[in-house]
Amino acid sequence: MIDQYGRNIDYMRISVTDRCNLRCLYCMPEEGIECLNPSDILSFEEIVTTAEAAALLGIKKIKITGGEPLVRKDIPNLIGKIKGIKGIEVVTMTTNGILLKNMAKDLKQAGLDGINISLDTIDPKRFKVLTRFDKLDEVLAGIREISSLGIKTKLNCVPINKIGEEELTKIAEFSGGNILVRFIELMPIGLGKEFQLIPYQTVKKILEDKYGASRLNPKKFGNGPAVYYDFPGLSGSIGFITAMSHEFCGTCNRIRLTAAGDIKLCLHHMEGISLKPYLENHISKDKLAELLKEVIYQKPAHHCFHEEKGQDVEWRNMVQIGG
Ligand code: SAM
Ligand code: SF4
Repeated sequence: MIDQYGRNIDYMRISVTDRCNLRCLYCMPEEGIECLNPSDILSFEEIVTTAEAAALLGIKKIKITGGEPLVRKDIPNLIGKIKGIKGIEVVTMTTNGILLKNMAKDLKQAGLDGINISLDTIDPKRFKVLTRFDKLDEVLAGIREISSLGIKTKLNCVPINKIGEEELTKIAEFSGGNILVRFIELMPIGLGKEFQLIPYQTVKKILEDKYGASRLNPKKFGNGPAVYYDFPGLSGSIGFITAMSHEFCGTCNRIRLTAAGDIKLCLHHMEGISLKPYLENHISKDKLAELLKEVIYQKPAHHCFHEEKGQDVEWRNMVQIGG
């Protein structure tokens, strides 16, 4: 559907949990986390009803996210259900990869179209510092398994000042075959405010110094705002998501559903509505579609990253919003 600023909204990110089996420095505190009660989290039926209503409005692409989506039981079942909704063309997931190796076949069988896996470092010691767990091997095994099954895989790296140049080039070398690497600028959300982002120009320069001058690749590789470049010394393209260097709100096509059932119209804006009471009262999907239509129309013009405080500014961590 078209919102008040003429943008075509066809993509919904659905968070299925606010829990995680890692504690990435810029996303979750080590302790003192208050997670939602299981009864406050949308059930699979409620998620499916919301996705059906959204599909009636023209949502075609869905990404399952979290927290860590694979810590929620029976995720392949949910993916199969969403894949079966008329109008939904693409279902993908974003994961930290820890539990992926053993679940990869079930996810493929459920019809998963693509997967994003977070990989900020490939140095085991640094991985332990950044995520507070010694589990890099599990992630790498998950990447190997899922890509060997032919699922399109994107490796997402959020470079922060704790990651060295040689690491960034090694991560870039994963790109090729059905794997793409993307570098994402850290956003000042929750704990993200406490770290220094590495701007995409810096990462591009590091890659150019090693792999030669980059050329813009005009091909679209997904739903999002990533811009891709080719480097002579790398076999695959490299994507950059530059929310801080370049605002791309004017072409934003997405809304979010949090694990608690809030529709979020913008990652860094409080605007939205809680669907939980409607879903608990078994609203029909047609009525829900009407409600969503009104809400989505109001999607704000742009995010509030450059505002420090204010009633519109999102204060939660990514793990709670659904990254
Ligand atoms: N646990 C899954 C994962 O790590 O991919 C899914 C949820 S996680 C919140 C989704 C993505 O958000 C990850 O790639 C993570 O690196 C990214 N992320 C978290 N906080 C961020 C921030 N402040 N700025 C930019 N990206 C962030
Ligand atoms: Fe967990 Fe993903 Fe946040 Fe890391 S980025 S703490 S893996 S939700």
